Amino acid sequence: MSDYKIATKCIHSGYTPKNGEPRQLPICQSTTYKYDSSVEMGKLFDLEASGYFYTRLQNPTNDCVAAKIADLEGGVAAVLTSSGQAANFFAIFNICSAGDHVVASSAIYGGTFNLFNVTMRKLGIDFTFVTPQCSEEELEAAFKENTKAVFGETLSNPSLQVLDIEKFAKAAHKHGVPLIVDNTFPTPINCRAFEYGVDIVTHSTTKYMDGHATQVGGVIVDSGNFDWTKSDKFPGLTTPDDSYHGVTYTERFGKGAYITKCVVQLMRDLGSIPGPQNAFLLNLGLETLHLRMERHCSNALKVAKYLSESDMVSWVSFPGLEGDEQYDLAKKYMPNGTCGVISFGVKGGREAATKFMDSLRLASIVTHVADSKTCVLHPASTTHRQLTDKQLEEAGVKSDLIRLSVGIEDAEDIIADIEQALVSATK
Ligand SMILES: *Cc1c(COP(=O)(O)O)cnc(C)c1O
Repeated sequence: MSDYKIATKCIHSGYTPKNGEPRQLPICQSTTYKYDSSVEMGKLFDLEASGYFYTRLQNPTNDCVAAKIADLEGGVAAVLTSSGQAANFFAIFNICSAGDHVVASSAIYGGTFNLFNVTMRKLGIDFTFVTPQCSEEELEAAFKENTKAVFGETLSNPSLQVLDIEKFAKAAHKHGVPLIVDNTFPTPINCRAFEYGVDIVTHSTTKYMDGHATQVGGVIVDSGNFDWTKSDKFPGLTTPDDSYHGVTYTERFGKGAYITKCVVQLMRDLGSIPGPQNAFLLNLGLETLHLRMERHCSNALKVAKYLSESDMVSWVSFPGLEGDEQYDLAKKYMPNGTCGVISFGVKGGREAATKFMDSLRLASIVTHVADSKTCVLHPASTTHRQLTDKQLEEAGVKSDLIRLSVGIEDAEDIIADIEQALVSATK
């Protein structure tokens, strides 16, 4: 599918029915797969033949959807996971073990920060956090002998900081390690992460990719560009795996090594695969991703302009808005738009913020973000409440920050709702 434009890929990549086969992607609702001989099945267990044997590792519906997302990102292979959290955990755990270290941007989703800073530390993997605006020297100073990866979010949730991808890629590659980015907010429609030097992309597909708040999921995509064999930093990929009779992933699977290891080792041992029904729903979402992202962005731009001109609002952050401090960086990495999420503060601080949210009629208060319906959240008291004030500041989350996820309703209705709620909150 690689020659088609991205809108065409959204519809057609990953599944091409042959003569007389179902037009829409079939749901293979089966845990297991039948073989004629035990010899054939044995070959699958030794990775000598490719094929399905158990849905904890692989399922045909999931694989079609993963292939579509790999094509959308311009990568060589992908694997779906049961959540965005699982995607980020697996993306790192696939190449790091106890005693290893990761350099990560501090402007990341609260759940990811907790995963890294608490849970993965318990597994013996250490993290150093740097702000996305750090200087090249500060970034350089964060690396250690045992650093195995660099991690960031292309557009951070919820603080909307744009990662200077080339700065992070350069530092990672200088140290012989991959740059892994979470591209959830801009999606491959708006940010072509691999073209700026990113090696591995992750997503919470729960957000724009699904787009309708129907199912939780994630994905890991490999660009195929990182050469794991250049150093001895990645023995899990470059030395024999005893659990598969001594298979060496980079030798047997070439550019597919990283994703294959993730599937046959991590999925085998840890599970976290989405059900095929969820993969099917994700695929339906992906078919309109290009249309929805355009509308999310144009609506959000109208709302951001309105907010920035309102005297009831203390500040607005929307990297797609001219004059925003992130505007130039956003134009560089996301030239066609960023996403539908805006953060802003209501005059009157925390109290006015709560009153504003409670006064909304069309927009609803939900934990979710990035689906078709406009919604709001106060991160400091919800998704980020486990963070200290200092960590909040480092993550770029002010205590009065309201995260507004602009949906694809009519922009005039969204703005009218915001206006009446602002009036109630500030009078
Ligand atoms: C939501 C989100 C996650 C976590 O994904 P889940 O699907 O909720 O597990 C990770 N990264 C970003 C940027 C997110 O927005």
